[in-house]
Amino acid sequence: MKALLDHYRSHLSTLALAFALGGSAQAAGPRGVAYVHVFQSGEAGIFANAYLVETEHSIVVVDSTLLESTSKALRARLLEIGKPLRAVLITHGHPDHYNGVTNLCAGEKVDVFATPETDRVIRESDAAKEKQWAPVFGAEWPVRRTFPNKILPTGGTFSVDDVTFTVRALGPGESHADSYWIMEGNTGRVAFIGDEVLNHVHAYVSDGHMSDWLKNLATLEHELKDVTRLYPGHGDVGGMEIVRWQEEYLRFYLRTVSALVGNQREITDAQKTRLVAAMEQFLPNRRLEFLIGLGAGPVVSELAAEQK
Ligand SMILES: [Zn+2]
Repeated sequence: MKALLDHYRSHLSTLALAFALGGSAQAAGPRGVAYVHVFQSGEAGIFANAYLVETEHSIVVVDSTLLESTSKALRARLLEIGKPLRAVLITHGHPDHYNGVTNLCAGEKVDVFATPETDRVIRESDAAKEKQWAPVFGAEWPVRRTFPNKILPTGGTFSVDDVTFTVRALGPGESHADSYWIMEGNTGRVAFIGDEVLNHVHAYVSDGHMSDWLKNLATLEHELKDVTRLYPGHGDVGGMEIVRWQEEYLRFYLRTVSALVGNQREITDAQKTRLVAAMEQFLPNRRLEFLIGLGAGPVVSELAAEQK
C-alpha cells in the first residue's frame, strides 16, 4: 500500500482569507490508515503549521496555530472534514503552537497531550508571552489559552483507530523543551517534528539553545531514518533534507555571529545589521526575517557562556 497520503488542501495565504480549498470529506479509510491534512498559516500567523490527521473515524490535530483567525480557520477545516476531534498533540511550548487550542476545541472536552517538560514551559511562560506579544498582535491574540490536560512522558503513546502516536522528548532546542511525535499506522511511519525545523523560514533562536538544537537535529537524523515524511512547525513538508537544511542554517548563523563579534560579549547594532544581511543572503525569501536580529543577543550570550 502506498505510504501515508498527504493532503495539501488548506494553504492559507493570509489570515483574513481563512478559507479552505476544495471539498475534503474523505470516505472513511481502512482501519490503521491516516491522512494528513496540512494547514499553513500565512505571514500574519507567522507561517505556523498545524496538521489534521484523519483516521477511520476520528481526527487528531498536531499543534494549533497562533491567532484567533487562524485557529478559527483550523476549526472550520476540522468541521469540513466532518469527524470528531479526538486529541490535540502539542510539539513544544511556544504560543504559535498552543495559542489556538481554545478555538480548535471550541468548548468540546478534548485530550490535549504534551510532555511534562513542554507543559511546564507553557505554564511558566504563558503570562510573559502574552505581555510581550499581545500588544503586537492586538485582537488576534487569543484572550484565553488552553493548556495541556494529558501529560505523556517521553516514549508514551496514544492510539486511535489503530494509528499510534508516540512522543519523544528532545530537551532544549528551538524552545526550552522540544518534543516530536511519531505516527505509525499500517502504511508506515511519519513524524511531526515541531520547530526542530522551520523549513525555509527564518529561525527563532532567542531561547538560546543553539548547540542543543543542533544536537537534537543530529538525534532526528539518527532516530527518524525509516520515517517517510517529516512535518515541520513552519514551512513545507519534506524528508530528511529539511533537517539537514536546518542544520546548515543554524551553523551559518553561528559562524556569522562568531566572525562578527569575536570575543565580545555583546553585539552592536552595526554588527546586527551585517548579520541580518548575511542571513537574508542565505535565505532570501524574507519569511520571518525579523527573527534574525531578535535572536542575535541571546546567541552571543550562549557563545560567550560556552567559551567560559
Ligand atoms: Zn513555531
